[in-house]
Amino acid sequence: MSVKSKLYEGKAKILYSTSEESVLLADFKDDATAFNAQKRGSIKNKGSINCRISTKIFQYLANKGIKTHFIDSPAPNQMLVKAVKILPLEVVVRNIAAGSLCKQTGLTLGTVLSEALVEFYYKNDDLGDPLLTRDRLKLLDLATPEQVETIAHLALEIDRLLIDFFRRCNITLVDFKLEFGLNSQAELILADEISPDTCRLWDNSIETDTENNLDSRVLDKDRFRRDLGKVEDAYEEVLKRVLSELDGE
Ligand code: C5P
Repeated sequence: MSVKSKLYEGKAKILYSTSEESVLLADFKDDATAFNAQKRGSIKNKGSINCRISTKIFQYLANKGIKTHFIDSPAPNQMLVKAVKILPLEVVVRNIAAGSLCKQTGLTLGTVLSEALVEFYYKNDDLGDPLLTRDRLKLLDLATPEQVETIAHLALEIDRLLIDFFRRCNITLVDFKLEFGLNSQAELILADEISPDTCRLWDNSIETDTENNLDSRVLDKDRFRRDLGKVEDAYEEVLKRVLSELDGE
Protein backbone atom coordinates (compact mmCIF):
# COMPACT_ATOMS: atom_id res chain seq x y z
CA MET A 1 0.00 0.00 0.00
CA SER A 2 1.36 3.44 -0.85
CA VAL A 3 0.55 6.91 0.45
CA LYS A 4 -1.10 9.12 -2.16
CA SER A 5 -2.04 12.68 -1.25
CA LYS A 6 -2.66 14.89 1.74
CA LEU A 7 -6.41 15.10 2.37
CA TYR A 8 -6.62 17.23 5.48
CA GLU A 9 -4.39 18.82 8.06
CA GLY A 10 -5.89 19.24 11.52
CA LYS A 11 -4.37 20.66 14.69
CA ALA A 12 -2.84 17.38 15.80
CA LYS A 13 -2.86 15.11 12.75
CA ILE A 14 -2.43 15.04 8.98
CA LEU A 15 -4.61 12.62 7.00
CA TYR A 16 -3.39 11.08 3.73
CA SER A 17 -5.20 8.95 1.20
CA THR A 18 -3.59 5.65 0.27
CA SER A 19 -3.66 3.35 -2.72
CA GLU A 20 -6.56 1.59 -0.97
CA GLU A 21 -9.65 3.75 -1.11
CA SER A 22 -11.01 2.50 2.21
CA VAL A 23 -7.76 3.14 4.12
CA LEU A 24 -6.27 6.46 5.27
CA LEU A 25 -2.94 7.20 6.93
CA ALA A 26 -2.97 9.48 9.99
CA ASP A 27 0.30 11.20 10.80
CA PHE A 28 0.37 12.42 14.42
CA LYS A 29 2.07 15.82 14.89
CA ASP A 30 4.04 17.27 17.80
CA ASP A 31 2.10 20.56 17.47
CA ALA A 32 -0.02 21.44 20.48
CA THR A 33 -2.94 23.87 20.55
CA ALA A 34 -5.42 24.89 23.20
CA PHE A 35 -8.36 27.28 23.62
CA ASN A 36 -9.47 26.88 20.00
CA ALA A 37 -5.86 27.32 18.77
CA GLN A 38 -5.39 30.67 20.52
CA LYS A 39 -2.51 29.04 22.39
CA ARG A 40 0.04 27.22 20.25
CA GLY A 41 3.19 25.28 20.99
CA SER A 42 4.89 21.98 20.51
CA ILE A 43 5.34 19.00 22.80
CA LYS A 44 8.45 16.95 22.08
CA ASN A 45 7.59 13.47 20.73
CA LYS A 46 3.87 14.07 21.29
CA GLY A 47 2.98 12.67 17.86
CA SER A 48 4.54 9.30 18.45
CA ILE A 49 3.51 9.15 22.13
CA ASN A 50 -0.15 9.87 21.33
CA CYS A 51 -0.15 7.48 18.39
CA ARG A 52 1.31 4.68 20.52
CA ILE A 53 -1.13 5.33 23.40
CA SER A 54 -4.09 5.48 20.99
CA THR A 55 -2.96 2.30 19.28
CA LYS A 56 -2.86 0.41 22.57
CA ILE A 57 -6.25 1.78 23.64
CA PHE A 58 -7.96 1.12 20.29
CA GLN A 59 -6.62 -2.46 20.39
CA TYR A 60 -7.93 -2.87 23.94
CA LEU A 61 -11.35 -1.48 22.99
CA ALA A 62 -11.53 -3.65 19.86
CA ASN A 63 -10.84 -6.71 22.03
CA LYS A 64 -13.82 -5.66 24.13
CA GLY A 65 -16.09 -5.48 21.08
CA ILE A 66 -15.97 -1.75 20.31
CA LYS A 67 -15.73 -0.98 16.59
CA THR A 68 -12.87 1.46 15.96
CA HIS A 69 -11.23 2.93 12.86
CA PHE A 70 -7.83 1.51 13.85
CA ILE A 71 -6.17 -0.89 11.40
CA ASP A 72 -2.44 -0.83 12.13
CA SER A 73 0.42 1.40 13.20
CA PRO A 74 3.19 1.18 10.57
CA ALA A 75 5.42 3.70 12.40
CA PRO A 76 5.39 5.13 15.95
CA ASN A 77 3.68 8.35 14.81
CA GLN A 78 1.51 6.84 12.07
CA MET A 79 -1.76 4.98 12.09
CA LEU A 80 -3.60 3.30 9.24
CA VAL A 81 -7.31 3.86 9.75
CA LYS A 82 -10.56 2.97 8.03
CA ALA A 83 -11.91 5.81 5.93
CA VAL A 84 -15.10 7.01 7.65
CA LYS A 85 -17.29 10.08 7.38
CA ILE A 86 -16.58 11.91 10.63
CA LEU A 87 -19.66 13.35 12.35
CA PRO A 88 -19.09 17.01 13.32
CA LEU A 89 -19.50 16.18 17.00
CA GLU A 90 -17.18 16.12 19.99
CA VAL A 91 -18.61 13.64 22.46
CA VAL A 92 -17.33 14.37 25.95
CA VAL A 93 -17.74 11.95 28.85
CA ARG A 94 -17.08 13.20 32.38
CA ASN A 95 -16.60 11.25 35.60
CA ILE A 96 -15.14 14.06 37.70
CA ALA A 97 -15.78 17.81 37.37
CA ALA A 98 -12.98 19.72 35.62
CA GLY A 99 -12.41 22.16 32.76
CA SER A 100 -15.41 23.71 31.08
CA LEU A 101 -17.88 21.88 33.35
CA CYS A 102 -16.47 23.75 36.38
CA LYS A 103 -16.29 27.00 34.45
CA GLN A 104 -19.87 26.81 33.21
CA THR A 105 -21.62 25.32 36.26
CA GLY A 106 -19.56 26.43 39.24
CA LEU A 107 -18.97 22.84 40.34
CA THR A 108 -15.74 22.50 42.31
CA LEU A 109 -12.79 20.97 40.50
CA GLY A 110 -12.50 17.33 41.51
CA THR A 111 -16.17 16.77 42.41
CA VAL A 112 -16.95 13.13 41.69
CA LEU A 113 -20.09 12.95 39.54
CA SER A 114 -22.74 10.53 40.81
CA GLU A 115 -23.11 9.20 37.27
CA ALA A 116 -21.08 9.75 34.12
CA LEU A 117 -22.14 12.78 32.11
CA VAL A 118 -22.26 12.55 28.30
CA GLU A 119 -22.17 15.84 26.42
CA PHE A 120 -22.26 16.73 22.73
CA TYR A 121 -20.34 19.68 21.35
CA TYR A 122 -20.57 21.04 17.80
CA LYS A 123 -17.16 20.48 16.16
CA ASN A 124 -16.94 23.90 14.58
CA ASP A 125 -13.90 26.11 15.22
CA ASP A 126 -15.60 29.26 13.88
CA LEU A 127 -18.34 28.88 16.48
CA GLY A 128 -15.92 27.83 19.25
CA ASP A 129 -17.23 24.24 19.54
CA PRO A 130 -20.46 25.12 21.44
CA LEU A 131 -22.27 22.71 23.77
CA LEU A 132 -25.33 21.25 22.07
CA THR A 133 -28.71 20.19 23.39
CA ARG A 134 -30.52 17.15 21.95
CA ASP A 135 -32.94 19.57 20.26
CA ARG A 136 -30.12 21.57 18.69
CA LEU A 137 -28.57 18.34 17.42
CA LYS A 138 -31.90 17.62 15.75
CA LEU A 139 -32.32 21.17 14.51
CA LEU A 140 -28.90 21.20 12.86
CA ASP A 141 -29.33 17.62 11.62
CA LEU A 142 -25.85 16.72 12.89
CA ALA A 143 -26.91 13.15 13.63
CA THR A 144 -30.21 11.30 13.70
CA PRO A 145 -31.87 10.85 17.12
CA GLU A 146 -31.10 7.10 16.81
CA GLN A 147 -27.42 7.84 16.13
CA VAL A 148 -27.32 10.20 19.11
CA GLU A 149 -28.72 7.49 21.40
CA THR A 150 -26.31 4.88 20.02
CA ILE A 151 -23.37 7.26 20.49
CA ALA A 152 -24.41 8.07 24.08
CA HIS A 153 -24.69 4.35 24.84
CA LEU A 154 -21.31 3.60 23.21
CA ALA A 155 -19.67 6.53 25.01
CA LEU A 156 -20.79 5.19 28.39
CA GLU A 157 -19.61 1.68 27.52
CA ILE A 158 -16.22 3.08 26.42
CA ASP A 159 -16.08 5.10 29.66
CA ARG A 160 -16.57 1.94 31.75
CA LEU A 161 -13.84 0.14 29.80
CA LEU A 162 -11.39 3.06 29.94
CA ILE A 163 -11.94 3.73 33.65
CA ASP A 164 -10.96 0.12 34.23
CA PHE A 165 -7.99 0.27 31.85
CA PHE A 166 -6.56 3.45 33.38
CA ARG A 167 -7.22 2.25 36.93
CA ARG A 168 -4.81 -0.59 36.21
CA CYS A 169 -2.28 2.09 35.12
CA ASN A 170 -2.82 3.79 38.51
CA ILE A 171 -4.53 6.68 36.73
CA THR A 172 -7.97 8.22 37.30
CA LEU A 173 -9.92 8.96 34.11
CA VAL A 174 -11.48 12.37 34.82
CA ASP A 175 -13.02 13.06 31.40
CA PHE A 176 -12.34 12.56 27.69
CA LYS A 177 -13.49 13.43 24.20
CA LEU A 178 -14.50 10.97 21.48
CA GLU A 179 -15.26 11.36 17.80
CA PHE A 180 -17.32 8.97 15.73
CA GLY A 181 -17.56 8.33 12.01
CA LEU A 182 -19.85 6.38 9.71
CA ASN A 183 -18.51 3.61 7.50
CA SER A 184 -19.91 2.65 4.11
CA GLN A 185 -22.54 0.49 5.85
CA ALA A 186 -23.60 3.53 7.91
CA GLU A 187 -22.27 1.89 11.08
CA LEU A 188 -20.94 4.12 13.85
CA ILE A 189 -17.21 3.66 14.30
CA LEU A 190 -15.01 5.15 17.03
CA ALA A 191 -12.45 7.41 15.31
CA ASP A 192 -9.83 10.11 16.00
CA GLU A 193 -7.51 9.34 18.96
CA ILE A 194 -7.58 8.62 22.68
CA SER A 195 -4.53 10.17 24.32
CA PRO A 196 -3.40 12.72 26.92
CA ASP A 197 -4.47 15.35 24.35
CA THR A 198 -8.08 14.20 24.54
CA CYS A 199 -8.40 12.86 28.10
CA ARG A 200 -7.91 14.30 31.58
CA LEU A 201 -5.78 11.81 33.46
CA TRP A 202 -4.83 12.14 37.13
CA ASP A 203 -1.99 10.21 38.70
CA ASN A 204 -3.16 8.03 41.60
CA SER A 205 0.36 7.55 42.91
CA ILE A 206 0.42 11.15 44.21
CA GLU A 207 -1.66 11.84 47.29
CA THR A 208 -3.37 15.24 47.53
CA ASP A 209 -5.58 16.94 50.06
CA THR A 210 -6.41 20.38 48.68
CA GLU A 211 -7.73 21.56 45.34
CA ASN A 212 -4.42 23.23 44.47
CA ASN A 213 -2.50 20.06 45.01
CA LEU A 214 -4.58 18.37 42.34
CA ASP A 215 -2.30 20.07 39.80
CA SER A 216 0.58 17.82 40.81
CA ARG A 217 -1.46 14.81 39.66
CA VAL A 218 -2.14 16.09 36.14
CA LEU A 219 -0.77 13.80 33.38
CA ASP A 220 -2.47 15.36 30.35
CA LYS A 221 -2.79 18.41 28.12
CA ASP A 222 -3.88 20.57 31.06
CA ARG A 223 -0.13 20.80 31.84
CA PHE A 224 0.23 22.62 28.49
CA ARG A 225 -3.07 24.56 28.70
CA ARG A 226 -2.33 25.83 32.21
CA ASP A 227 1.48 26.15 31.99
CA LEU A 228 2.02 23.58 34.73
CA GLY A 229 5.42 22.52 33.28
CA LYS A 230 6.82 19.01 32.72
CA VAL A 231 4.41 18.41 29.83
CA GLU A 232 6.67 15.92 28.00
CA ASP A 233 7.35 14.00 31.22
CA ALA A 234 3.63 13.60 31.84
CA TYR A 235 2.93 12.27 28.32
CA GLU A 236 5.93 9.90 28.60
CA GLU A 237 4.66 8.65 31.96
CA VAL A 238 1.22 7.86 30.53
CA LEU A 239 2.85 6.01 27.61
CA LYS A 240 5.05 3.98 29.96
CA ARG A 241 2.10 2.93 32.12
CA VAL A 242 -0.22 2.23 29.19
CA LEU A 243 2.38 0.04 27.44
CA SER A 244 3.10 -1.92 30.62
CA GLU A 245 -0.62 -2.68 30.96
CA LEU A 246 -0.37 -6.12 29.38
CA ASP A 247 -3.62 -7.31 27.91
CA GLY A 248 -6.35 -5.23 29.48
CA GLU A 249 -7.90 -8.27 31.13
O1 C5P B 1 -12.57 21.69 27.99
P1 C5P B 1 -13.50 20.63 28.49
O2 C5P B 1 -13.54 20.53 29.99
O3 C5P B 1 -14.88 20.73 27.91
O4 C5P B 1 -12.88 19.25 27.95
C1 C5P B 1 -13.44 18.01 28.30
C2 C5P B 1 -12.53 16.90 27.77
O5 C5P B 1 -12.56 16.87 26.36
C3 C5P B 1 -11.06 17.07 28.16
O6 C5P B 1 -10.50 15.79 28.42
C4 C5P B 1 -10.42 17.67 26.93
O7 C5P B 1 -9.06 17.31 26.80
C5 C5P B 1 -11.25 17.04 25.82
N1 C5P B 1 -11.38 17.93 24.65
C6 C5P B 1 -10.72 17.61 23.47
N2 C5P B 1 -10.85 18.43 22.37
C7 C5P B 1 -11.62 19.52 22.41
C8 C5P B 1 -12.29 19.87 23.60
C9 C5P B 1 -12.15 19.04 24.70
O8 C5P B 1 -10.03 16.60 23.40
N3 C5P B 1 -11.73 20.28 21.33
